[in-house]
Amino acid sequence: MAHTATLQLLQDLISFDTTSCNSNLELMAYVQSYLNEQGVQSQLIYDEAGGKANLYATVAGSAANNAEVAAKAGVMLSGHTDTVPVTGQNWTCDPYQLSETDGRYYGRGTSDMKTFIASALAAVPAMQAADLQVPVHLAFSYDEEIGCVGVRRMIDTLKDHPVKPAICIIGEPTEMQVVTAHKGKLAAKVSVYGKECHSGMAPYGVNAVNYAARMITWLEQLAHEKQTLGPFEDGYDILTPPFTLALFTAVPW
Ligand SMILES: [Zn+2]
Repeated sequence: MAHTATLQLLQDLISFDTTSCNSNLELMAYVQSYLNEQGVQSQLIYDEAGGKANLYATVAGSAANNAEVAAKAGVMLSGHTDTVPVTGQNWTCDPYQLSETDGRYYGRGTSDMKTFIASALAAVPAMQAADLQVPVHLAFSYDEEIGCVGVRRMIDTLKDHPVKPAICIIGEPTEMQVVTAHKGKLAAKVSVYGKECHSGMAPYGVNAVNYAARMITWLEQLAHEKQTLGPFEDGYDILTPPFTLALFTAVPW
């Protein structure tokens, strides 16, 4: 049986259409007012246009020395408030109204990842009442679904905090398995530009496609090298980082 407070919070969170293209400010105002009622101050970190925001809050519990507790590193609970669109999908119920069928709850974001946010928020009264030894930080972001763009502003702000969280628990759906690491990612966008000339005068020009082909071959060799020589990291299906070509532009001239 699901926790009533969590369900109520989830129902409210689902009712905000926070598809990444929309503002999440109404949802954040709701979260902020809920936290206020629990006596927890929170900070909004806006995007450039002021239409979306991250939220950061520190819960320090009931201890008399809670200012001291709040100054410790603590544990961060993090999630994104945006969701993927429902456009073109064959929903049989209103995606922005939580509904239950056979003990399962449906609504856009129930899995990814408003239930985590609802669970974290529902636990705040218990955290506030507890004699916490270290604080619990709540970090809710925007624009995760379009490339983890929103959280960068929150990370920038946290860089200036005197104490940083010691660990972060992210409530992404992982089929109820604990995932302790991520391979990370480095993406580069490459354009190769050539120098125009008549095909009969080829040696006077620069063929961008030829140079692009060399780079692609180099990347493939590098991938092969990493796969055979490492470094290897245990715990993954594929033990080396992937080197994949996603997009490459060669502009002949
Ligand atoms: Zn997610």
